[in-house]
Amino acid sequence: ATGSIKKAHVLQNPARIIYVGRSTMTTKFAQLGLMSQLDQTVSDLGYITPTPIQSEIIPLMLDGHDVIGQAQTGTGKTAAFILPILQTLERGHCGIQALVLTPTRELAMQVAKAADEYGKRLNVRVLAVYGGQPYNLQINRLRQGVDIVVGTPGRLLDLINKRKLDLSSVRTIVLDEADEMLSMGFIEDIEEILSTLPSERQAALFSATIPPTLGSIANKYMHSPKSITIKSKHLTVDAIEHQYCLVNKEDKLAVLTRLFEIEDITSALIFVRTRVGTSDLVNELMGRGFTAEALNSDLKQQTREQVLNRFRRNQITILVATDMAARGLDINDISHVFNYDLPEDPELYVHRVGRTGRAGKTGIAISLLTRKELWRLHRIERFTKQEITRKQIPTAEEIEEHRKTQLLEQMMIWLQRGRCQKELQMVNRLVEIGHDPLQIAAIALKMARREEKQRPIAQISEVQEGRFQNSRHKIKSVERRKGRNGANGFSENGMVRLTLGAGRSHGVRPADVIGTIAYHAKFPGNTIGAISILDKHTLVDVPQQYVEQTLAKSGKYQIHKKAVKLKLA
Ligand code: AMP
Repeated sequence: ATGSIKKAHVLQNPARIIYVGRSTMTTKFAQLGLMSQLDQTVSDLGYITPTPIQSEIIPLMLDGHDVIGQAQTGTGKTAAFILPILQTLERGHCGIQALVLTPTRELAMQVAKAADEYGKRLNVRVLAVYGGQPYNLQINRLRQGVDIVVGTPGRLLDLINKRKLDLSSVRTIVLDEADEMLSMGFIEDIEEILSTLPSERQAALFSATIPPTLGSIANKYMHSPKSITIKSKHLTVDAIEHQYCLVNKEDKLAVLTRLFEIEDITSALIFVRTRVGTSDLVNELMGRGFTAEALNSDLKQQTREQVLNRFRRNQITILVATDMAARGLDINDISHVFNYDLPEDPELYVHRVGRTGRAGKTGIAISLLTRKELWRLHRIERFTKQEITRKQIPTAEEIEEHRKTQLLEQMMIWLQRGRCQKELQMVNRLVEIGHDPLQIAAIALKMARREEKQRPIAQISEVQEGRFQNSRHKIKSVERRKGRNGANGFSENGMVRLTLGAGRSHGVRPADVIGTIAYHAKFPGNTIGAISILDKHTLVDVPQQYVEQTLAKSGKYQIHKKAVKLKLA
């Protein structure tokens, strides 16, 4: 993606800022002045053109300038500062030549890994230092000699104070995600570290925002820095499809699980507003058979890394996170970002969805919102200058059809593969005793589909369409309502939806619902349709022919020995 570069006007002392206005749209790596080993490495990694921040920052840093890059994760900023550092390393030098400060251990590890990767043809020695790891390990590595140290301010300062980290030969210092470091309260540590560095050195600062405190740090510790800003809207590259589903608040979970059925998800990041919300949602999803884990600020660093590794290795497909916990997260293969709760701030939206659609892949961002939140969506659209298109919630029929198609596709693969001698022998035994092969195949499929019964399709209620929507949406939704749900009050397949006045918070289980209704209304429990247990109440589909007798017994129904009301939904 090509981004536009604009003048930075955030810093306090404009005299120190020089606007860099090179046209960068078609710059190639070969034009940046990198040495052949680095050129070769980026091409090995499959990078074709430098990102905007790279084409601006790399030549500047190679020329020895101090730089300020206002850019977020996902813009390629790491390579923008690591490549020039690698190029200017002096071979055979024994001291530390470059120091990178990062707000989190995780980012330190990522940057160190990137430095290792980009420097693989140059035999560089990179070390990440961060709290939570034994000192000895880090001290031993430092003794053996390190060219680039990447670390969090606290641990770096500890090592300096223990006289284990000698920064006297540092020639480049980088502050990565500087605003994050400030908001985490590292300002004093950073200043202390900066003051121990030689005065003749290059400084680079990267930050999504430049708050005033950061401006004054730049003024104090940098020499005529050149400033580059990558507009945040360019983060949401064209490779992201922005969609939203209009939902009723209480149906969010149901809608999410329906989307999981239809969407081709390899890995999903779901954003919720609160820390508690992450655990609640994870529990709900796990209960429905989805492998999800929470990423929130309650997690110890070690656990957090374990969770992230499981996610990277695809052992879990769904990560539920807060904005705080997702900071500095660098995972490239996220196919879907879900906004379970819409962010208040449009910029947060950009930040969240920028986690998908990376490295040349297309990503999908789906926001769940209620009618009342539509205005917020429009605000985000204005901010990102991207249309967010409405996505219809998959209907039960669509999901059933999708399940069938998927099963048939798998069958086709196996049919081509063959390799089912044992099963053929079993079929032969059935044929020998007179069964029809077609019938056998159908029964085998029926048995294969039993697992689906464990995954009932969650019920959702009709969203009351409001005056906000345009006529295109209105026509479509009326058609859908007519075609799919029948007349009002009726749910799918000749069922009528009833509400039972007790829900999850009362410990209701599906068996309780079936038990009490079937017993009192005197009809077979297995004819009861979908049951959706919500927090305070439960939706249950009853065949139309039994509705009258079911409602007639209202007053009789009990769950856990407590009377519960039943009425039309
Ligand atoms: P960053 O903003 O440094 O976290 O980088 C985001 C991702 O983009 C990383 O996974 C890089 O591997 C990738 N990347 C960096 N530069 C390029 C480039 N020029 N072309 C393609 N991918 C890149």
